[in-house]
Amino acid sequence: MYTYKKKVKGDVKMEKQLEQINQLFETALPKNLTNKIIKPEDRDYHYVRSSYMGVGRPEIVVMAETNQDVVDTIAYVNELRKSMSEVPFSIRSGGHGMSGSSTNVGGVILDLSKMNAIEILDEAAGIVKIQAGAQWGQVAGTLAPHDLIITSGNFGDVGVGGIATSGGSGYFTRHQGLTIDHVIGATLITADGVIHELSETSEPELFWGLRGGGTQLGVAVDFTLQAHKVNSTTHDASVIQQHITYVTEDVEQFVANWGRWIKQAPQEMTSFLMIQKTPQNVYAVDARNVWANTDTERAVPELEKALAIDKIYDHSENMMSYADLIPYPQSIHIGQQKIKIANAIVDKVDASLGRAIKEVLETAHVVELRPLDGKVHEVGQDETAWAHRHRDGFLSVWMSPKSDDQLLAEFAPVMELATGMYGAYSSITTSEVSELAWPGKTGKRLKALKNQVDPEGVFNTGLQV
Ligand SMILES: Cc1cc2nc3c(=O)[nH]c(=O)nc-3n(C[C@H](O)[C@H](O)[C@H](O)COP(=O)(O)OP(=O)(O)OC[C@H]3O[C@@H](n4cnc5c(N)ncnc54)[C@H](O)[C@@H]3O)c2cc1C
Repeated sequence: MYTYKKKVKGDVKMEKQLEQINQLFETALPKNLTNKIIKPEDRDYHYVRSSYMGVGRPEIVVMAETNQDVVDTIAYVNELRKSMSEVPFSIRSGGHGMSGSSTNVGGVILDLSKMNAIEILDEAAGIVKIQAGAQWGQVAGTLAPHDLIITSGNFGDVGVGGIATSGGSGYFTRHQGLTIDHVIGATLITADGVIHELSETSEPELFWGLRGGGTQLGVAVDFTLQAHKVNSTTHDASVIQQHITYVTEDVEQFVANWGRWIKQAPQEMTSFLMIQKTPQNVYAVDARNVWANTDTERAVPELEKALAIDKIYDHSENMMSYADLIPYPQSIHIGQQKIKIANAIVDKVDASLGRAIKEVLETAHVVELRPLDGKVHEVGQDETAWAHRHRDGFLSVWMSPKSDDQLLAEFAPVMELATGMYGAYSSITTSEVSELAWPGKTGKRLKALKNQVDPEGVFNTGLQV
């Protein structure tokens, strides 16, 4: 195989075995896919081999265009598995997965980026159908002129497939909940090649698992989503964004004050913090506060309260469109992001969390902090496979550790307060992370579903229940 060719040069037996495997990758390929694959020797390989967080060396990347291509790719992987003990198989939608699992070494990548259609099915009702390979910046750009918004991640290059199967916390979390809370239907193709149309009434158990645990059950090729209709007078302004840079000596007190402010704020307000320790031993906090419409009368008093949380270095307040809030950089993925990320979901945002963050910032580059209350709490604990419905905070740490163990050790002060983890927001995919992402009953139920639809473990990359 590509990876080992150099290593086995001169070893006749190994060279022969590798040649056989290479041939297998060729001969097992369904005819329909012949013109849709990219191999290591191809010119475009450099652009498709990696994800944002990981450099990969797959044997084959399938650039799927249709549901049939997805079915054929799964059949191909099943065929390879008959002769190879392990076939790494990655699904890639936006390529922004934190663990880098949408690429691999020596296996197959199913790339869905060409399956990126966004269709407004019913504008008045806000019903939208989106293929998994679309990215959120594209979604925002398409929906903004129709005054429609879907709560998603904050970053425009993140894929619809990864978020709509795993969670989705962003600038509208308190107002609209998670992305998965807006999925009202989906098409999932399982390891046996069967195409399932999922909704509350069609295969409800699989629909439950898809929303929060979907990354390991099959390939989600499209989603029907309930978008939120904004009552704006102009498409150029759907929301109010406040950008504040605080400078504080007391990060413990800052976190407690911010926690109190966001908890009392109406649900229209969501806030996103990036906290850093500066070389001058003070803390710089970059806050993006988003009010989910343009009602200044209600928003301004809350924005003023935010200005009173701590000392301010700079601030600005703007009305902007949904498309400007989630810009679409369209970066090429070459494994450029080298940092590692761990996260924690916590019951309360208070001074003890502030103390833990202070400790972590002795070594971390950045701590992100977001609220997880509001609409997220209004969905029942058992309604989706996202098990963290009654918590107040979600935070993550960005570090450059030498190992996963070091990352977890340095994040330990926060982990002591953690009651859960967001699986898709973690560089680490160990069973410890899995148990926190899908604890207790949720984990058992999801495991039963996984055993039912993927008993052989065909979908074998990324976090597994
Ligand atoms: C810079 C950055 C910012 C981020 N910001 C946010 C944020 O604000 N909020 C938030 O909630 N998350 C955020 N994330 C995390 C992100 O949402 C998840 O990592 C998500 O899984 C990425 O989706 P993707 O399609 O781009 O990922 P990919 O890398 O394409 O896929 C990641 C994994 O998801 C699974 N997967 C992908 N597509 C499918 C599919 N169609 N069917 C089944 N499984 C699939 C696969 O297991 C794959 O390995 C961010 C990540 C990065 C790198």
